[in-house]
Amino acid sequence: MTALPIAAPPTPRRFYIETWGCQMNELDSQRMAGQLMQQGILPTRAPEEADIILLNSCSVRDKAEQKVYSRLGEYRLFKRQNAGLLIGLCGCVAQQEGQRALERVPGLDFVVGPARVGELAQIVARRRQGERVVATGFPAERTYDVDAVSRSGEYKGMVTIIEGCDKNCTFCIVPTTRGPERSRPLADVLTEVRHLLDYGFHEIELLGQTVNHWREPGGDLDFADLLEAVATLPGLARLRFITSYPRDFTPRMVAMVGKHENICPYLHLPVQSGADGVLRRMGRGYTRAQYADLVHQLRAARQDLALSTDIIVGFPGESEEDFRQTLDLVEEIRFSGVYAFTYSPRPGTAAPRLDGQIDPAVASERLQRLFALQEGIQKDINLTLVGKEYDVVVTGWGREPGMQMGRTPCHRVATFATGPEPAPLGSVTRVRIASAHTHSLKAERVA
Ligand code: SF4
Repeated sequence: MTALPIAAPPTPRRFYIETWGCQMNELDSQRMAGQLMQQGILPTRAPEEADIILLNSCSVRDKAEQKVYSRLGEYRLFKRQNAGLLIGLCGCVAQQEGQRALERVPGLDFVVGPARVGELAQIVARRRQGERVVATGFPAERTYDVDAVSRSGEYKGMVTIIEGCDKNCTFCIVPTTRGPERSRPLADVLTEVRHLLDYGFHEIELLGQTVNHWREPGGDLDFADLLEAVATLPGLARLRFITSYPRDFTPRMVAMVGKHENICPYLHLPVQSGADGVLRRMGRGYTRAQYADLVHQLRAARQDLALSTDIIVGFPGESEEDFRQTLDLVEEIRFSGVYAFTYSPRPGTAAPRLDGQIDPAVASERLQRLFALQEGIQKDINLTLVGKEYDVVVTGWGREPGMQMGRTPCHRVATFATGPEPAPLGSVTRVRIASAHTHSLKAERVA
Protein backbone atom coordinates (compact mmCIF):
# COMPACT_ATOMS: atom_id res chain seq x y z
CA MET A 1 0.00 0.00 0.00
CA THR A 2 1.52 3.40 -0.93
CA ALA A 3 0.89 6.93 0.26
CA LEU A 4 2.83 10.19 0.31
CA PRO A 5 6.33 10.17 1.84
CA ILE A 6 6.53 11.70 5.32
CA ALA A 7 9.81 13.53 5.97
CA ALA A 8 11.45 13.09 9.35
CA PRO A 9 11.20 16.27 11.43
CA PRO A 10 14.40 18.13 12.35
CA THR A 11 16.27 16.76 15.37
CA PRO A 12 15.86 16.18 18.25
CA ARG A 13 13.33 13.50 17.37
CA ARG A 14 11.26 11.82 20.06
CA PHE A 15 9.23 8.64 20.37
CA TYR A 16 6.43 7.70 22.73
CA ILE A 17 5.30 4.11 23.38
CA GLU A 18 2.13 3.08 25.19
CA THR A 19 2.02 -0.57 26.25
CA TRP A 20 -0.93 -2.76 27.21
CA GLY A 21 -1.01 -6.39 28.26
CA CYS A 22 1.55 -8.94 29.33
CA GLN A 23 5.30 -9.04 29.95
CA MET A 24 5.85 -10.18 26.36
CA ASN A 25 4.47 -6.84 25.23
CA GLU A 26 6.60 -5.00 27.78
CA LEU A 27 9.70 -6.65 26.36
CA ASP A 28 8.56 -5.95 22.78
CA SER A 29 8.23 -2.27 23.73
CA GLN A 30 11.77 -2.33 25.13
CA ARG A 31 12.94 -3.84 21.83
CA MET A 32 11.17 -1.17 19.78
CA ALA A 33 12.56 1.59 22.01
CA GLY A 34 16.06 0.12 21.62
CA GLN A 35 15.87 0.17 17.82
CA LEU A 36 14.69 3.79 17.75
CA MET A 37 17.35 4.89 20.25
CA GLN A 38 20.02 3.28 18.08
CA GLN A 39 18.90 5.76 15.43
CA GLY A 40 19.28 8.70 17.80
CA ILE A 41 15.54 9.04 18.47
CA LEU A 42 14.90 9.72 22.15
CA PRO A 43 12.03 8.64 24.42
CA THR A 44 9.46 11.09 25.75
CA ARG A 45 6.68 10.66 28.28
CA ALA A 46 4.52 13.27 26.51
CA PRO A 47 2.76 11.94 23.40
CA GLU A 48 2.15 15.50 22.14
CA GLU A 49 5.95 15.98 21.91
CA ALA A 50 6.55 12.78 19.95
CA ASP A 51 7.43 12.34 16.27
CA ILE A 52 6.73 8.61 16.47
CA ILE A 53 3.88 7.19 18.57
CA LEU A 54 3.64 3.42 18.98
CA LEU A 55 0.65 1.72 20.57
CA ASN A 56 1.67 -1.76 21.66
CA SER A 57 -1.69 -3.42 22.06
CA CYS A 58 -3.30 -6.41 23.74
CA SER A 59 -6.32 -8.26 22.34
CA VAL A 60 -6.95 -10.78 25.11
CA ARG A 61 -10.12 -8.88 26.05
CA ASP A 62 -12.46 -6.86 23.87
CA LYS A 63 -12.18 -3.82 26.16
CA ALA A 64 -8.41 -3.51 25.66
CA GLU A 65 -8.90 -3.69 21.89
CA GLN A 66 -11.54 -0.93 21.90
CA LYS A 67 -9.27 1.22 24.05
CA VAL A 68 -6.41 1.08 21.56
CA TYR A 69 -8.70 2.18 18.74
CA SER A 70 -9.97 5.10 20.79
CA ARG A 71 -6.35 6.11 21.55
CA LEU A 72 -5.48 5.95 17.85
CA GLY A 73 -8.38 8.34 17.22
CA GLU A 74 -6.99 10.78 19.81
CA TYR A 75 -3.39 10.63 18.64
CA ARG A 76 -4.08 11.08 14.96
CA LEU A 77 -5.35 14.58 15.77
CA PHE A 78 -1.77 15.45 16.81
CA LYS A 79 -0.89 15.33 13.11
CA ARG A 80 -2.56 18.74 12.72
CA GLN A 81 0.28 20.24 14.77
CA ASN A 82 3.05 17.88 13.63
CA ALA A 83 2.87 16.85 9.96
CA GLY A 84 5.93 14.61 10.38
CA LEU A 85 4.33 12.50 13.13
CA LEU A 86 4.18 8.73 12.49
CA ILE A 87 1.69 6.53 14.33
CA GLY A 88 2.16 2.76 14.48
CA LEU A 89 -0.16 0.06 15.80
CA CYS A 90 1.87 -2.82 17.25
CA GLY A 91 1.22 -5.98 19.27
CA CYS A 92 -1.65 -8.44 19.23
CA VAL A 93 -4.38 -6.12 17.86
CA ALA A 94 -1.98 -5.28 15.00
CA GLN A 95 -1.60 -8.98 14.16
CA GLN A 96 -5.33 -9.56 14.46
CA GLU A 97 -6.44 -6.52 12.42
CA GLY A 98 -3.60 -6.05 9.87
CA GLN A 99 -4.80 -4.17 6.80
CA ARG A 100 -8.24 -3.58 8.38
CA ALA A 101 -6.62 -1.23 10.94
CA LEU A 102 -5.11 0.93 8.17
CA GLU A 103 -8.52 1.18 6.52
CA ARG A 104 -10.31 1.95 9.78
CA VAL A 105 -7.88 4.64 11.03
CA PRO A 106 -6.91 7.13 8.30
CA GLY A 107 -3.97 8.63 10.22
CA LEU A 108 -2.37 5.26 10.99
CA ASP A 109 1.02 4.87 9.29
CA PHE A 110 2.00 1.25 9.89
CA VAL A 111 0.94 -1.98 11.57
CA VAL A 112 3.51 -4.30 13.20
CA GLY A 113 2.63 -7.74 14.58
CA PRO A 114 4.49 -9.20 17.59
CA ALA A 115 6.69 -11.48 15.47
CA ARG A 116 7.86 -8.53 13.33
CA VAL A 117 8.96 -6.18 16.13
CA GLY A 118 12.63 -6.67 15.21
CA GLU A 119 11.95 -4.99 11.83
CA LEU A 120 10.65 -1.70 13.28
CA ALA A 121 13.59 0.46 12.14
CA GLN A 122 13.16 -0.66 8.49
CA ILE A 123 9.38 -0.24 8.72
CA VAL A 124 9.77 3.38 9.88
CA ALA A 125 12.22 4.00 7.01
CA ARG A 126 9.77 2.48 4.50
CA ARG A 127 6.99 4.72 5.80
CA ARG A 128 9.20 7.78 5.45
CA GLN A 129 9.56 6.75 1.77
CA GLY A 130 5.78 6.70 1.38
CA GLU A 131 4.68 3.11 2.05
CA ARG A 132 1.94 2.40 4.62
CA VAL A 133 3.40 -0.89 5.84
CA VAL A 134 1.49 -3.89 7.19
CA ALA A 135 4.09 -6.21 8.78
CA THR A 136 2.25 -9.16 10.30
CA GLY A 137 2.56 -12.97 10.24
CA PHE A 138 5.23 -15.27 11.57
CA PRO A 139 8.43 -15.43 9.50
CA ALA A 140 10.59 -18.55 10.01
CA GLU A 141 13.64 -16.33 10.70
CA ARG A 142 12.97 -13.60 13.22
CA THR A 143 15.13 -10.52 13.79
CA TYR A 144 16.23 -10.24 17.44
CA ASP A 145 19.13 -7.94 18.20
CA VAL A 146 20.00 -8.33 21.90
CA ASP A 147 21.94 -5.06 21.73
CA ALA A 148 18.88 -3.15 20.51
CA VAL A 149 16.77 -3.48 23.67
CA SER A 150 16.26 -0.44 25.88
CA ARG A 151 16.41 -1.88 29.40
CA SER A 152 16.60 1.52 31.06
CA GLY A 153 14.48 1.99 34.15
CA GLU A 154 13.93 -1.74 34.53
CA TYR A 155 15.24 -3.65 37.50
CA LYS A 156 14.83 -7.03 35.88
CA GLY A 157 16.04 -8.34 32.57
CA MET A 158 13.32 -10.11 30.59
CA VAL A 159 14.31 -12.86 28.17
CA THR A 160 11.88 -14.58 25.81
CA ILE A 161 12.54 -18.31 25.64
CA ILE A 162 9.44 -19.48 23.78
CA GLU A 163 7.03 -17.58 21.55
CA GLY A 164 3.47 -18.38 20.43
CA CYS A 165 1.22 -21.13 21.69
CA ASP A 166 -0.21 -24.37 20.31
CA LYS A 167 -2.68 -25.07 23.13
CA ASN A 168 -5.79 -23.49 21.59
CA CYS A 169 -7.77 -23.02 24.80
CA THR A 170 -11.26 -22.30 23.53
CA PHE A 171 -11.41 -18.73 24.94
CA CYS A 172 -7.96 -17.54 23.91
CA ILE A 173 -6.88 -15.45 20.94
CA VAL A 174 -3.14 -15.77 21.64
CA PRO A 175 -2.49 -18.68 19.23
CA THR A 176 -3.85 -16.41 16.46
CA THR A 177 -2.04 -13.24 17.48
CA ARG A 178 1.28 -14.73 18.58
CA GLY A 179 1.33 -17.69 16.22
CA PRO A 180 2.53 -21.25 16.62
CA GLU A 181 4.94 -22.21 19.38
CA ARG A 182 8.64 -21.55 18.65
CA SER A 183 11.35 -22.26 21.26
CA ARG A 184 14.65 -20.38 21.15
CA PRO A 185 17.82 -22.47 21.22
CA LEU A 186 19.35 -22.81 24.70
CA ALA A 187 22.63 -21.31 23.49
CA ASP A 188 20.80 -18.10 22.40
CA VAL A 189 18.99 -17.86 25.73
CA LEU A 190 22.22 -18.29 27.71
CA THR A 191 23.98 -15.66 25.58
CA GLU A 192 21.23 -13.14 26.29
CA VAL A 193 21.13 -13.91 30.02
CA ARG A 194 24.94 -13.59 30.31
CA HIS A 195 24.73 -10.31 28.42
CA LEU A 196 22.20 -9.00 30.98
CA LEU A 197 24.27 -10.19 33.93
CA ASP A 198 27.29 -8.40 32.43
CA TYR A 199 25.16 -5.25 32.39
CA GLY A 200 24.56 -5.63 36.12
CA PHE A 201 21.03 -7.06 36.30
CA HIS A 202 20.36 -9.03 39.50
CA GLU A 203 17.14 -10.54 38.33
CA ILE A 204 16.21 -12.39 35.14
CA GLU A 205 12.66 -13.23 34.10
CA LEU A 206 12.16 -15.91 31.45
CA LEU A 207 9.10 -15.30 29.29
CA GLY A 208 6.73 -17.41 27.26
CA GLN A 209 2.98 -17.90 26.91
CA THR A 210 3.61 -21.46 28.10
CA VAL A 211 7.12 -20.93 29.41
CA ASN A 212 7.51 -24.43 30.87
CA HIS A 213 6.75 -26.01 27.49
CA TRP A 214 10.17 -24.87 26.22
CA ARG A 215 12.03 -27.57 24.27
CA GLU A 216 15.46 -27.35 22.65
CA PRO A 217 14.66 -27.05 18.91
CA GLY A 218 15.54 -30.40 17.33
CA GLY A 219 16.90 -31.75 20.65
CA ASP A 220 15.85 -33.56 23.83
CA LEU A 221 16.33 -30.84 26.43
CA ASP A 222 13.26 -29.50 28.23
CA PHE A 223 12.48 -26.63 30.58
CA ALA A 224 14.00 -28.42 33.59
CA ASP A 225 17.35 -28.51 31.75
CA LEU A 226 17.03 -24.86 30.78
CA LEU A 227 16.22 -23.87 34.38
CA GLU A 228 19.29 -25.74 35.62
CA ALA A 229 21.52 -24.13 32.98
CA VAL A 230 20.28 -20.58 33.67
CA ALA A 231 20.07 -20.87 37.49
CA THR A 232 23.70 -21.99 37.72
CA LEU A 233 25.08 -19.04 35.74
CA PRO A 234 27.52 -17.12 37.97
CA GLY A 235 26.14 -13.84 39.29
CA LEU A 236 22.43 -14.59 38.91
CA ALA A 237 20.71 -13.62 42.18
CA ARG A 238 17.06 -14.08 41.17
CA LEU A 239 15.39 -16.10 38.46
CA ARG A 240 11.69 -15.92 37.63
CA PHE A 241 9.63 -17.39 34.83
CA ILE A 242 6.16 -16.65 33.54
CA THR A 243 3.60 -17.98 32.47
CA SER A 244 3.59 -21.64 33.48
CA TYR A 245 1.03 -24.02 32.08
CA PRO A 246 -0.19 -26.52 34.72
CA ARG A 247 -0.27 -29.54 32.39
CA ASP A 248 3.34 -28.96 31.26
CA PHE A 249 4.94 -29.18 34.72
CA THR A 250 7.00 -32.35 35.13
CA PRO A 251 8.40 -33.77 38.40
CA ARG A 252 11.91 -32.69 37.26
CA MET A 253 10.71 -29.11 36.84
CA VAL A 254 9.12 -29.20 40.28
CA ALA A 255 12.39 -30.53 41.69
CA MET A 256 14.33 -27.67 40.05
CA VAL A 257 12.11 -25.11 41.77
CA GLY A 258 13.06 -26.71 45.08
CA LYS A 259 16.72 -27.22 44.23
CA HIS A 260 17.88 -23.72 43.23
CA GLU A 261 17.52 -21.04 45.87
CA ASN A 262 17.90 -18.30 43.31
CA ILE A 263 14.69 -19.45 41.60
CA CYS A 264 12.23 -17.08 43.27
CA PRO A 265 9.53 -18.64 45.46
CA TYR A 266 6.75 -17.25 43.31
CA LEU A 267 4.80 -18.84 40.47
CA HIS A 268 1.97 -17.63 38.31
CA LEU A 269 -0.07 -20.73 37.53
CA PRO A 270 -3.34 -19.96 35.74
CA VAL A 271 -6.16 -22.31 36.78
CA GLN A 272 -9.04 -20.45 35.02
CA SER A 273 -11.81 -22.42 36.83
CA GLY A 274 -12.31 -24.80 39.74
CA ALA A 275 -14.97 -26.87 37.95
CA ASP A 276 -13.99 -29.86 35.80
CA GLY A 277 -16.83 -29.34 33.31
CA VAL A 278 -15.73 -25.75 32.69
CA LEU A 279 -12.07 -26.77 32.41
CA ARG A 280 -13.09 -29.36 29.83
CA ARG A 281 -15.04 -26.84 27.78
CA MET A 282 -12.09 -24.46 27.99
CA GLY A 283 -9.86 -27.24 26.59
CA ARG A 284 -7.35 -26.86 29.41
CA GLY A 285 -6.34 -30.52 29.55
CA TYR A 286 -6.25 -30.91 33.35
CA THR A 287 -8.77 -31.44 36.11
CA ARG A 288 -9.21 -29.53 39.32
CA ALA A 289 -7.70 -32.46 41.26
CA GLN A 290 -4.63 -32.56 38.98
CA TYR A 291 -4.12 -28.82 39.44
CA ALA A 292 -4.43 -29.10 43.24
CA ASP A 293 -2.01 -32.04 43.25
CA LEU A 294 0.55 -30.03 41.28
CA VAL A 295 0.25 -27.19 43.80
CA HIS A 296 0.77 -29.70 46.58
CA GLN A 297 3.96 -31.01 44.90
CA LEU A 298 5.28 -27.48 44.30
CA ARG A 299 4.67 -26.47 47.92
CA ALA A 300 6.34 -29.63 49.15
CA ALA A 301 9.38 -28.75 47.03
CA ARG A 302 9.37 -25.10 48.11
CA GLN A 303 7.62 -24.30 51.37
CA ASP A 304 7.79 -20.51 50.97
CA LEU A 305 6.20 -20.60 47.51
CA ALA A 306 3.67 -17.85 46.73
CA LEU A 307 1.21 -18.64 43.96
CA SER A 308 -0.92 -16.38 41.83
CA THR A 309 -3.46 -17.40 39.24
CA ASP A 310 -5.83 -16.28 36.47
CA ILE A 311 -9.55 -17.01 36.66
CA ILE A 312 -12.26 -16.46 34.05
CA VAL A 313 -15.71 -15.95 35.54
CA GLY A 314 -18.89 -16.50 33.54
CA PHE A 315 -17.40 -18.82 30.91
CA PRO A 316 -20.16 -20.30 28.68
CA GLY A 317 -22.06 -22.98 30.56
CA GLU A 318 -20.68 -22.01 34.01
CA SER A 319 -23.45 -22.85 36.48
CA GLU A 320 -23.77 -21.40 39.98
CA GLU A 321 -22.47 -24.74 41.26
CA ASP A 322 -19.45 -24.54 38.91
CA PHE A 323 -18.73 -21.07 40.20
CA ARG A 324 -18.98 -22.26 43.81
CA GLN A 325 -16.36 -24.87 42.98
CA THR A 326 -14.08 -22.08 41.80
CA LEU A 327 -14.60 -20.23 45.10
CA ASP A 328 -13.95 -23.48 46.92
CA LEU A 329 -10.66 -24.00 45.05
CA VAL A 330 -9.58 -20.42 45.82
CA GLU A 331 -10.21 -21.12 49.52
CA GLU A 332 -8.35 -24.42 49.34
CA ILE A 333 -5.24 -23.17 47.51
CA ARG A 334 -5.04 -19.71 49.13
CA PHE A 335 -3.40 -17.81 46.29
CA SER A 336 -1.28 -14.76 47.06
CA GLY A 337 -2.93 -13.03 44.08
CA VAL A 338 -5.85 -13.70 41.72
CA TYR A 339 -6.19 -11.98 38.34
CA ALA A 340 -9.86 -12.49 37.54
CA PHE A 341 -12.03 -11.20 34.72
CA THR A 342 -15.43 -11.91 33.28
CA TYR A 343 -15.34 -13.97 30.10
CA SER A 344 -14.80 -11.85 26.96
CA PRO A 345 -15.64 -13.49 23.60
CA ARG A 346 -12.77 -13.12 21.13
CA PRO A 347 -12.95 -13.41 17.34
CA GLY A 348 -11.79 -16.68 15.81
CA THR A 349 -12.02 -18.65 19.07
CA ALA A 350 -14.35 -21.58 19.75
CA ALA A 351 -15.97 -20.49 23.03
CA PRO A 352 -18.38 -17.87 21.58
CA ARG A 353 -20.14 -20.73 19.76
CA LEU A 354 -20.62 -22.80 22.93
CA ASP A 355 -24.08 -23.19 24.47
CA GLY A 356 -24.94 -21.45 27.71
CA GLN A 357 -23.54 -17.94 27.23
CA ILE A 358 -23.79 -16.19 30.61
CA ASP A 359 -25.64 -12.94 31.22
CA PRO A 360 -22.94 -10.25 31.79
CA ALA A 361 -24.76 -9.06 34.94
CA VAL A 362 -24.55 -12.58 36.42
CA ALA A 363 -20.85 -12.81 35.49
CA SER A 364 -20.11 -9.41 37.09
CA GLU A 365 -21.90 -10.36 40.29
CA ARG A 366 -19.88 -13.60 40.49
CA LEU A 367 -16.68 -11.67 39.87
CA GLN A 368 -17.42 -9.37 42.82
CA ARG A 369 -17.97 -12.38 45.08
CA LEU A 370 -14.66 -13.83 43.96
CA PHE A 371 -12.86 -10.53 44.63
CA ALA A 372 -14.42 -10.27 48.09
CA LEU A 373 -13.27 -13.80 48.99
CA GLN A 374 -9.77 -13.25 47.62
CA GLU A 375 -9.32 -9.93 49.42
CA GLY A 376 -9.92 -11.60 52.76
CA ILE A 377 -7.50 -14.44 51.96
CA GLN A 378 -4.87 -12.04 50.69
CA LYS A 379 -5.07 -9.89 53.79
CA ASP A 380 -4.76 -12.95 56.06
CA ILE A 381 -1.71 -14.17 54.12
CA ASN A 382 -0.10 -10.71 54.20
CA LEU A 383 -0.61 -10.46 57.97
CA THR A 384 1.45 -13.62 58.43
CA LEU A 385 4.40 -11.77 56.86
CA VAL A 386 4.57 -9.06 59.55
CA GLY A 387 7.91 -9.22 61.34
CA LYS A 388 9.61 -11.19 58.56
CA GLU A 389 12.69 -9.86 56.79
CA TYR A 390 13.22 -9.87 53.04
CA ASP A 391 15.80 -8.69 50.55
CA VAL A 392 13.86 -6.49 48.13
CA VAL A 393 14.94 -5.27 44.72
CA VAL A 394 14.26 -1.53 44.70
CA THR A 395 11.83 -0.83 41.87
CA GLY A 396 10.75 2.79 42.28
CA TRP A 397 9.36 5.57 44.45
CA GLY A 398 6.23 5.25 46.58
CA ARG A 399 3.23 7.57 46.24
CA GLU A 400 4.03 9.29 49.51
CA PRO A 401 7.11 11.52 49.68
CA GLY A 402 10.20 9.85 51.14
CA MET A 403 8.95 6.34 50.39
CA GLN A 404 10.47 3.76 48.06
CA MET A 405 9.12 0.48 46.74
CA GLY A 406 10.75 -2.90 46.35
CA ARG A 407 9.81 -6.43 45.32
CA THR A 408 10.28 -9.34 47.67
CA PRO A 409 11.47 -12.67 46.20
CA CYS A 410 7.84 -13.83 46.49
CA HIS A 411 6.85 -10.93 44.20
CA ARG A 412 5.10 -8.79 46.79
CA VAL A 413 5.51 -5.04 46.76
CA ALA A 414 6.81 -3.50 50.00
CA THR A 415 7.06 0.25 50.56
CA PHE A 416 9.65 1.59 52.98
CA ALA A 417 11.01 4.95 54.13
CA THR A 418 14.16 5.88 52.22
CA GLY A 419 16.01 7.10 55.29
CA PRO A 420 18.90 9.56 54.88
CA GLU A 421 20.29 7.66 51.85
CA PRO A 422 17.75 6.47 49.27
CA ALA A 423 18.49 2.99 47.98
CA PRO A 424 19.52 3.14 44.28
CA LEU A 425 16.93 1.79 41.85
CA GLY A 426 17.70 -1.80 40.96
CA SER A 427 19.78 -2.37 44.11
CA VAL A 428 18.93 -4.94 46.78
CA THR A 429 18.10 -3.75 50.29
CA ARG A 430 16.92 -5.60 53.41
CA VAL A 431 13.56 -4.72 54.94
CA ARG A 432 11.37 -5.96 57.78
CA ILE A 433 7.60 -6.04 57.19
CA ALA A 434 6.00 -3.69 59.73
CA SER A 435 2.33 -3.80 58.69
CA ALA A 436 0.19 -5.52 56.10
CA HIS A 437 -2.94 -4.66 54.15
CA THR A 438 -4.81 -6.48 51.39
CA HIS A 439 -2.76 -5.07 48.53
CA SER A 440 0.30 -3.60 50.19
CA LEU A 441 3.03 -4.19 52.72
CA LYS A 442 4.71 -1.45 54.73
CA ALA A 443 8.29 -2.17 55.74
CA GLU A 444 11.30 -0.70 57.52
CA ARG A 445 14.82 -0.83 56.22
CA VAL A 446 17.07 -3.07 58.25
CA ALA A 447 20.61 -1.85 58.81
S1 SF4 B 1 -2.17 -21.89 26.99
FE1 SF4 B 1 -4.29 -21.41 26.46
S2 SF4 B 1 -4.65 -19.46 27.58
FE2 SF4 B 1 -2.44 -19.72 27.49
S3 SF4 B 1 -1.78 -18.60 25.65
FE3 SF4 B 1 -2.10 -20.74 25.04
S4 SF4 B 1 -4.20 -20.83 24.28
FE4 SF4 B 1 -4.00 -18.93 25.47
